Amino acid sequence: MRRPIIAGNWKMFKTIAETRQFFDALIPALQDVEHCDIVVAPPFTALAAAAEEAEGTRVSISAQDVYWEPQGAFTGEIAVRMLVDAGCAFTIIGHSERRQYFGETDQTVEKKTRAALKGGLDAIVCVGESLEERDGGSAAPVVRRQVQNGLGAFSEAELSHVAIAYEPVWAIGTGRTATPEIAESMHAEIRKTVAEIYGNSAAVAIRILYGGSVKPDNIKSLMDCENIDGALVGGASLEAASFASIIKYR
Ligand code: PEP
Repeated sequence: MRRPIIAGNWKMFKTIAETRQFFDALIPALQDVEHCDIVVAPPFTALAAAAEEAEGTRVSISAQDVYWEPQGAFTGEIAVRMLVDAGCAFTIIGHSERRQYFGETDQTVEKKTRAALKGGLDAIVCVGESLEERDGGSAAPVVRRQVQNGLGAFSEAELSHVAIAYEPVWAIGTGRTATPEIAESMHAEIRKTVAEIYGNSAAVAIRILYGGSVKPDNIKSLMDCENIDGALVGGASLEAASFASIIKYR
């Protein structure tokens, strides 16, 4: 009953010209795809071009980050209304690379998510434990805390515009995918946490994506899991053919 989402996070890759080339290759490959929502998250400079290329197609455009203030003296930041103006329907928030390298916290995730939802963007909110946390046995409490602190204080209507991406840090860009069993068990834990905060119907409805070295050859086994509703794909989303084959996992 939950509609799957396959989202590509391009990180700091692709110019405007490369973005246009990507869409020229991707769109014809998606002719018969109806089973899932498709999202592409280019860097800020390529958002408007991507939105132009995706117009009238099944692909929605996402930013990779956003700031919570509506405007002002915040050099280097970008506001929700600017992203909407550029053609975005989504933004990623709390990616582990933002948490690791740029000081993102559960509190800033909460503020960004609130601003995004208020301004009309859907949010893909990332959570996930580090290798040390997994090896130390605290993966589930860490992820529960990220969900509780980052997403614990919204209305059910607001939450319906949020998808959660479970991205174990040790699996991102490493080629080491979580096994379907590990991913499924954390997705179930996340859904349970959402149920504790918002009740059963919100928990059943929320889409939880897996991210971490998703590739054409492992997407199907992940998508076969009951609580995995899609994927957030980094490296393998940069090439139209591999992203299209992930989208066509069925
Ligand atoms: C990501 O950037 O969100 C990601 C999961 O990257 P990769 O697929 O390359 O591991």
